[in-house]
Amino acid sequence: MAKNGINPALAERLKRRNALPAPGELTARLLRGDRAALSRAITLVESQHPEHQALARRVVNACLPHSGKSVRIGITGSPGVGKSTFIEALGGYLIDDQKERVAVLAVDPSSPVTHGSILGDKTRMQELSHRLEAFVRPSAAGRELGGVARTTRETIVLVEAAGYGVVLVETVGVGQSETTVRSLVDCFLLLLLPNAGDELQGIKRGVVEMADLIAINKADGDHLPAARTARRAYRDSLHLFPPRSGGWSPTVHLMSAQERTGIAELWEQGIQRYLQHTRSNGFFADQRQQQSAAWFERALDARLRRLFSDRKPLMDALAARRRAVLDGTTSPFVAAEELIELFLRELRG
Ligand code: GDP
Repeated sequence: MAKNGINPALAERLKRRNALPAPGELTARLLRGDRAALSRAITLVESQHPEHQALARRVVNACLPHSGKSVRIGITGSPGVGKSTFIEALGGYLIDDQKERVAVLAVDPSSPVTHGSILGDKTRMQELSHRLEAFVRPSAAGRELGGVARTTRETIVLVEAAGYGVVLVETVGVGQSETTVRSLVDCFLLLLLPNAGDELQGIKRGVVEMADLIAINKADGDHLPAARTARRAYRDSLHLFPPRSGGWSPTVHLMSAQERTGIAELWEQGIQRYLQHTRSNGFFADQRQQQSAAWFERALDARLRRLFSDRKPLMDALAARRRAVLDGTTSPFVAAEELIELFLRELRG
């Protein structure tokens, strides 16, 4: 007991709880487009603290009916290809010419290569981050891909509810981040340089196959002839891939993010045509449903695993069973059954 008769641990808990906004009020402010409320809600989503997470879940759920109306676009490409210059240019075009509001998010898991730096660097997208119609949010630092992916998925719900009609999700392509971003967006755009082959550009196998659209950037000045040659080469090679489930054949575009040429064409003849195509044949809605279902499974798996990993005796039993399976003394199925039995016994206490 503390000297004023209040248990200090309880006092601390009350203080923390008092500092948290009421979920209803935070949601109402967010839905009115209040940027501070939006930032606060995203910070709660990114927090590891159980009380923050519980509050974040309520806010995200309350925002859900107001979300889903945006277009979600993933953008990938090697460092230096011009992603941030392009996002500045596209964001500016969307705000000025299309009267859109644009949110920019990043999937940049902490890695020895990037140090979780995309969008974290203050010099990137300076113009856009000062526009009232734009909301630029760096990737939470020090998180693993799984954590970044979950928080990005929930952040998309929040920015949509706050009224942003276009969500751009940038990734630098570390580890599995392209596949993760693909599972978050409606349309996936790969930026390439005019001059180099895939390997030279550091493009991983499979990323070209994931792209709905390819834009060859830096198609300006001396690079222009090479950019045209690259466009022909990509158009030819894309024909060799099997048709997509959405019935869409990826298109290849030229642009200069720096000179802001080809941006309107990419938007109108590339992204908009893709959206019209996939909306009219039902693929757009199907893909979103499949993504939601996959995220549900993933959340369930992660939660079940945590229920396990929070209990030391179970983790010990799991390690022992794994050894037995490796030694060939227990079958994998028997080992799994035994573990589940143990788990249920633990739960019943
Ligand atoms: P990121 O690492 O993919 O985000 O690339 P940046 O946007 O930071 O651009 C890398 C470099 O390429 C910068 O020096 C840009 O000025 C330059 N750059 C970007 N877009 C273009 C372009 O369209 N044409 C030319 N010539 N340079 C560009």
